[in-house]
Parts: sequence; C-alpha cells; structure tokens
Amino acid sequence: MSLLVVGTVAFDAIETPFGKTDKIVGGAATYIGLSASKFYDQINLISVVGDDFPKSAINMMQKHHMNTDGLQIKQGEKTFFWSGKYHTDMNTRDTLDTQLNVLENFDPRVPENYQDCDCLMLGNLMPSIQKKVLSQLKKRPKLIVLDTMNFWMDNCLEELIEALKEVDVLTINDEEARQLSGKNSLVKAARKILSFGPRHLIIKKGEHGALLFNEEEVFFAPALPLEDVFDPTGAGDTFAGGFVGHLCATKDYSFHNMKRAVIFGSVMASFCVEKFGTERLESLTDDVVEQRIQEFVKLVRFDVC
Ligand code: AMP
Repeated sequence: MSLLVVGTVAFDAIETPFGKTDKIVGGAATYIGLSASKFYDQINLISVVGDDFPKSAINMMQKHHMNTDGLQIKQGEKTFFWSGKYHTDMNTRDTLDTQLNVLENFDPRVPENYQDCDCLMLGNLMPSIQKKVLSQLKKRPKLIVLDTMNFWMDNCLEELIEALKEVDVLTINDEEARQLSGKNSLVKAARKILSFGPRHLIIKKGEHGALLFNEEEVFFAPALPLEDVFDPTGAGDTFAGGFVGHLCATKDYSFHNMKRAVIFGSVMASFCVEKFGTERLESLTDDVVEQRIQEFVKLVRFDVC
C-alpha cells in the first residue's frame, strides 16, 4: 500500500521582505512528499524535470522515502520554473514568472509498481495531467485529494471542474475559493464548491489557519503564531502533505480523523515557513514535530466553565 503523489518538481526564485533566492529546488510534489514523509514512508512520486535538475535533489527526495521511478527526466529540456514575490504581510504574493518548460508536453506514466495505491495526492498541476494519472489507476484509491491554484482556474477552468467530480478532498486558499465559486462568503463558497463534486473542502487562510468543510460540518484549525515567517512558499503543499500523510498512515478517512489531519498539516506548514525553500523540512526530526503538535494542542485547548 502506498501514497501516490503527483505534482511539480521545480526551480523557484523567491523574493520576500527578508531576502531573495536565485533558483532553488521547489515544486508542489517536492513539498508534499517531504511533509508526508514525516508520517508515512511508502511514497511514490510522479513528475517531470529537465536535465538541468540536480541529481543531489533527487537523492534528497529518495532519502525522504520518495520512490522516484515515476519521475521523468527529459534530456535537453528545462525544469518547470516559478518565481514569486511576497508582500510585506507575507500572506499575499505576486507570481512574477511561470515557465512551464518540461510540463508543457508532460505525459505522466504510472509505473506498474505504483498501482497498489491507497491514497492519491493530486498536487498542483494542470488538471488534465491530474486526470490522466487518475485514469491510469486500475483501482480507485480510497482517498483522492486534489490541490490547485488560481493559475489553473484562469487557464483551464473547464478541465478543473471536470477533475473535481472525482475527488474526495479539494484544498485551495481563500482567494481561490472565492474565485472558483464566485461567492464572497467562505461558507457560501464552500457550499457551491462542494456541489461541484468533492466530498470535503479545505480552505487555507495562510497565517489565519484552515477550514475543513463537508456538507454537514465545519472544523477550524489555527496556524501557529510565529515570531518570524521567512518564506511562505510551499506552505500550502506542505499542509497537504501532512494532511494526506496522516490519513494514509492511519487508514481512517472519517471527518473526525480529517480534523486531526488538518492539525498535522498545519504543524508541518508552520515549519516550512521558517526557512527559505525546503531547507527546514529537510532537517526536521520526529521529536521536533511531536513537540510542535503539543504546542498546537495547547494553543487550541480550552474549557467551557
Ligand atoms: P504554495 O506556496 O503552496 O502555493 O506552493 C508553491 C510551489 O508551487 C512552488 O514551489 C512552485 O514551484 C509551485 N508552483 C507555482 N506555480 C505553480 C503552478 N502553476 N503549477 C504547479 N506548481 C506551481
């Protein structure tokens, strides 16, 4: 049994009020895999890079329990590149550049040894590619989570709506929820988005936490108040990795367990933002993760009378 992760493996150039990076390793699947690996160790990756992508970064992923049999390396082509600049509030950002490069003609192939898949995490990518992976699975996974962003809403809304019919959980941020639903109220937005097909919806609100909806219930998890946020890049993917990693490890896909998974996703995201790129996630130990889970418990626990 395994967790199948599909998404970008990328080069990012990031600018925040604290500094600027040149091309560093990033990508939705990279963050998801690193985060999920703290909870689960059978992770199968599907993505594509060019021959400019460093072997050391692939080794790093393998070291963090990611099987890279499904990572295509395209000779003579360039890796997906994204560049973004954060505003002073660190909650909002402008995308400065998106170069699809290898992603443009990406034809994902699910290796035979990936078929035994309990959970599928369709990380941020073209919706048509997300669907193509799903259609190659001989058995429907027990849990399908899809993450997306405004870029795909702007460029391929129809395919995205089509993909949403197949998923159990959709994760997006508040701005994207409003864009996708055309509603300002997040409660109304959630109702509308759930009518597109997903059985659960997670709306991420950056430093203001995350909301989990199904048709009957709502749950809220705060983000950990941090003194310094250096780089929020990948926080959403890291959240998704912690969320799906916990569900995959426990094999309990109930709303009750999803609440816990939202907390674990928030725990992982709180680490991601502490350093540039994937640096903090790469160096995390189990003790430090456990300590932070306890900080979350303390943060939200209260008695009524
Ligand atoms: P997040 O901050 O969670 O939204 O994720 C940022 C990561 O997503 C970066 O590492 C980027 O490489 C990757 N990314 C940015 N734009 C896209 C896109 N349009 N499709 C897929 N991945 C993207």
